[in-house]
Order: sequence, then C-alpha cells, then structure tokens
Amino acid sequence: MTDTLSPPTIPESLKKAREDFPILKREVNGKPLVYLDNAASTQKPQSVIDAVTRYYSQENANIHRGVHLLSAEATAAYEAARGKLARYLNAADESEVIFTRGATESVNLIAYSFVEPLVQPGDEILITHMEHHANIVPWQLLCERTGAILKVAPIFDNGDLDIDAYLSMIGPRTKLAAAVHVSNAIGTVNPIERIIQAAKAKGVPTLIDAAQSIQHMDLDVQALDCDFLVFSGHKLFAPTGIGGLYGRRSLLDGMRPYQGGGDMIAHVSFDGTTYKEPPSRFEAGTPHIAGGIGLGVAVDYIQSIGRNVMQDYESQLIKYAANRLKNAPGVQLIGEPTHRAGAISFTMENAHPHDIGTILDTEGIAIRSGHHCCEPLMTRFDISATARVSIALYNNHEDIDALISSLAKVNALFG
Ligand code: PMP
Repeated sequence: MTDTLSPPTIPESLKKAREDFPILKREVNGKPLVYLDNAASTQKPQSVIDAVTRYYSQENANIHRGVHLLSAEATAAYEAARGKLARYLNAADESEVIFTRGATESVNLIAYSFVEPLVQPGDEILITHMEHHANIVPWQLLCERTGAILKVAPIFDNGDLDIDAYLSMIGPRTKLAAAVHVSNAIGTVNPIERIIQAAKAKGVPTLIDAAQSIQHMDLDVQALDCDFLVFSGHKLFAPTGIGGLYGRRSLLDGMRPYQGGGDMIAHVSFDGTTYKEPPSRFEAGTPHIAGGIGLGVAVDYIQSIGRNVMQDYESQLIKYAANRLKNAPGVQLIGEPTHRAGAISFTMENAHPHDIGTILDTEGIAIRSGHHCCEPLMTRFDISATARVSIALYNNHEDIDALISSLAKVNALFG
C-alpha cells in the first residue's frame, strides 16, 4: 500500500507542463485553481490557443474551394492536422480520419451511415452497462427506426465489465459490438483487445468509444484492429466542437453519407448526385477549421511530452488519488475497477454530490457532480449521482492533497 500512497515523482518532460496552461494560473473564489474536472473537458495549452488565434488573425479563409493564398494555407493547415491525428492513432491512411464535432457526432454518423443499412428487425447492437449516453441513445434511436434490439452486457459491483458475459453476447444477429474504452464516470479500463478479437473472429464489426481514453493512453488502431474509434478534441487539450472518427477504409468506402451539402459531393445535378471518397464524403459543409488546426497542435503538444511518460505518470497519480480518497473519512468510492484511468467517482454519507461540488468550488477546486451522462450506470449502483475527480497530465499530488483537505471540511460539516 505504501508505494501507491507515496506521491508520484513528476517526470522531467512534465515538470513545466503547468506553465503551458495559462488558465491554471488563475484564482477561483480567491484560491488558486485546482482543476480536477478533466473528464468533462481538459484545459488548453498556450500552443493550441496561439494556433487558433493565428488562424483567425493570419490565415482565416474557407478550405478546399479557394485558389487564393489564404485558402491554400488554411487547407494545408487543416489537412496537416488530419495527418497528425492519423499518425497519432497509427491509422493506415489519412483518409481513415474523419473530422466531426466530437465523439457524439461520430457515433451518430456510424449508426446512420454504417449500421442502419445493415440491420433487419431483430438484429442486435451490443454495448456495455457503463456507456456514456453518446454510446447509448444513438443506438436506441436506431432501434426505434429499424426494429433492432439493443443488448447491454452487465458489469460487476466493482465496476469491471463482465467480459465473459459480453463475449458470450456476441451472436449471429450482432451487427455491431461497441464498448467504451475507459469509463468517464468510474474510470474502468475495459479489455477492448479481447472484445475486438472475439468480435472479429465472429465477423462482427467493432466500435470503440475512446472519448475518455484518448487523453490518457496510447491508442494504435492497427494494433487494436478495431473498425471504428470515436473521440472528442476538447478532452484532448483541443478546442470544443471538433473531434473525430477513425474508420477502416474498406468499410468507409461502402458507407452512405451522413449529411448532404457542400464539399462532400463529386457532382450534383437535379437528376442525381455523386459523392466524394472518404473522408470528404462524411464532411459536409464548412468545418470547424480553427478547431481542426488546434487539435493537430494539441497532438503535437502531447507528442512533445511523450505519451508513455504521460500514461505512466497519470497511472501513478490516479492510484495515489484513489488511495487517499479511499482512506478519507466519510468517503465511499463508487467502483473500484481492476484497471483504472483518469477518473474516480465517490459519494459521501450525508452530503449530496452537488453539495460536495459546491463546497469544493468555494475552495477553488473544480470537480463534477451528477450522473456524468451515464444514468444507467448510476442506476446500476442504485444512486442518482456521484462526485467525480478526474485528472490530466498537469495535475499533481498537491491538487489531490488540497482535495482531501477540503473533503475533510465537507465531512465535518455534513458527517
Ligand atoms: N463518450 C465518453 C466516454 C465521454 O466521456 C464523452 C464526453 N464526456 C462522450 C462520449 C461524448 O463526448 P462529446 O460530448 O464531446 O461528444
């Protein structure tokens, strides 16, 4: 126990990370900001803020359609960001990375463009009990439209997925096996490799929701061999309103467009329209150009720190936080998964999670309280809400220590 209770040493490449995020210098309610709400959204490094400012002040123009210099520069910067993401995820080809508004839009795109044309009434979509609403509701909508059935694999009381149950539920009628990689609510890391391999062996396509894992772990879509993987830029130190989707090119090629409009067409006439190849086919209209460029710079930022360095450090910090929380008077952890990344949920005996969050805010500490867009998961634990602490690469043990001291005050008030 003592090793996980001792604070982690900050590696060399992370020592100055806090200085890269200007917001971390501000005060909240007269106290230095302690930002522990990274599963809701991460803060932005100066390099990302500068890239967005530079785009609007130096390069602003619409992409893909212009012959003038600004348009050419903006197009090059946006497409370079796609390339950075493709390399970051180790996609086989840049065309396998599609820009969307984020993980939510990516799941909806896959539901409409890939799964819906495949399903007959009675076919099944498989998910887990710990999904974010973004990986539940699009499937419920699809089931309403098509008569397909949403199957939900159970979880254990400690917050681990019942992987044997999940694998046994992949059957002849399963049209998609989907799972969240890391739970944004309770931090469980799911054995997605096993899910992907088992589904593949039965010829079932896979979707991984990497919205919460992409900011914490190394992701290699070729090694994983998944068919689709979705993520959001704002949880990866990039602007809001931009995110993406990795899709296996052989599947993307056969998919219908998600939205119609400019930039996704080959030719339009009133007799009929033909579409561009991926990724353009799935990117109708003027995109979030500044966001895409910012996302590319966010990827550069993480690469400059080193993904393995970040992952190792964070895994020590989250263990430290979980141990301290577990031993904090009045605190009850919700979920103690075998493998955890990024987030810890807890409740306190007499204080509602919203009260905990409000009191911590007076101390300058930002955490989240609520159902974290995982209402079925809350129901599974027989609660309506938790308080959630979630870390990123700029957090340190002092942040956790400040949290623990403030929770002692909450406990004294309500306990
Ligand atoms: N899945 C998970 C696991 C998430 O944590 C989130 C965001 N909290 C989403 C999906 C949806 O992401 P967004 O709201 O950015 O589309």
